[in-house]
Amino acid sequence: MNTYKYAKIPSKGEKIQIIDGELSVPNEPVIPFIEGDGIGPDIWNAAKRVIDAAVAKTYTGNKEIHWMEVLAGEKAKDITGQWLPEETPQIISDFIVAIKGPLTTPVGGGIRSLNVTLRQVLDLYACVRPVRYIPGVPSPVNHPEKLNIVIFRENTEDVYAGIEWESGSEEANYLIDIIREKFNKSIRTESGIGIKPISPFGTKRLIRKAIQYAIQNNRGSVTIVHKGNIMKFTEGAFKDWGYELALEEFRDQIITEAELWDETRADDGVTPITKPGAFADLRGGQPAGNPGGRIVVKDRIADSMFQQILTRSDEYDILCTPNLNGDYLSDAAAAQVGGLGIAPGGNIGDYIALFEATHGTAPKYAGQDKVNPGSLILSGVMMLEYLGWKDAADLIVHAMGETIQQKTVTYDLERQMEGATKVSTSGFAEAIVANM
Ligand code: NAD
Repeated sequence: MNTYKYAKIPSKGEKIQIIDGELSVPNEPVIPFIEGDGIGPDIWNAAKRVIDAAVAKTYTGNKEIHWMEVLAGEKAKDITGQWLPEETPQIISDFIVAIKGPLTTPVGGGIRSLNVTLRQVLDLYACVRPVRYIPGVPSPVNHPEKLNIVIFRENTEDVYAGIEWESGSEEANYLIDIIREKFNKSIRTESGIGIKPISPFGTKRLIRKAIQYAIQNNRGSVTIVHKGNIMKFTEGAFKDWGYELALEEFRDQIITEAELWDETRADDGVTPITKPGAFADLRGGQPAGNPGGRIVVKDRIADSMFQQILTRSDEYDILCTPNLNGDYLSDAAAAQVGGLGIAPGGNIGDYIALFEATHGTAPKYAGQDKVNPGSLILSGVMMLEYLGWKDAADLIVHAMGETIQQKTVTYDLERQMEGATKVSTSGFAEAIVANM
């Protein structure tokens, strides 16, 4: 029975469920999608074409996704009068896994970003961004292939929690007075005030998810990125709580970097000893990972991390960050391997996951069948991996890599590549399908 006002449940397909704390994915799941605004429909159609073809090719009729459109953004406003109909987050929560194109952030009228609202309402606390090089993509660095990381950015806390007051406001002045009177700390008058909350709860569930991901995907290390040398009780605590969680819940599967140093250094404290499975060369370098199958948990100060993804790209695997630093780091890392046009992302909670293109709606290209659908296609790959349909995911990565190496690309890459053939959004999708 269709219980939703606008969305129509497909006549075929079943709900994904959570059984005994695990995702239970039927062979024919119903998956809600939000087409998105601006270039959204163009890239969504391309992504859907590629995802469906990969599933059909891989599972020869034994698996199929039944797509269910849900409304958000301009299309929702036109049809329902609301930017985000109440049923939309409800449906995503009911069906657990969903995918979306970019949404316009309405300007003025006190309407919040729809993306932020969806993340908060659904408590999607981890923003997950894999950053991996696809051979052939133009990159600003010499060895983009050395970077292969997944960033887990905390999505609900930090200075992004939206707790701030304008310069000169009653609230800001009140806080400035209170802080002076009660805590004897002076803040310049007329300052704007923002609050940076970071909690053990918010930190630990993020680090837990990152370590679980590292275990499931056989990754070598988890690095906690923070600015704890300056902000001790927020960023520094993020690091401390991260280690605490790792040791409490994953003792047998992890080794901290400090422990690894102790284990692998000889009595003189300098000479590294090579043990079976241990990282061979610790001199000057940092253990990259997986000695004896254990995940190395380490931490880096944020500014150093920005250098190290460039200079020691291959020593990092999974990075965990608070909200603000994660925002910067995700874009910097994406630029390193060829830009945001092909960077995928997912916002993930305990079970619910919403995968999305990481770029915006690029309104000037809307409806022109012109832009690069790579970001949304690779978000689809993340979604297939999340469903446990890894073979279909791998098929897309392989076919997309092949297409780019054949230099069949959309305008944004074509203008940076010599001898490339420019294709449309839909043409790029067809070329990928042809390469499967
Ligand atoms: P944008 O990402 O939409 O566009 C910036 C520029 O990047 C474009 O002009 C275009 O040259 C290029 N670009 C973006 N996507 C591309 C693609 N797939 N292929 C080729 N080139 C591409 O950023 P903006 O202009 O700052 O934002 C426009 C709107 O999108 C705003 O309303 C903003 O709020 C919204 N937005 C939404 C999301 C989201 O839904 N997750 C993210 C960012 C921005």
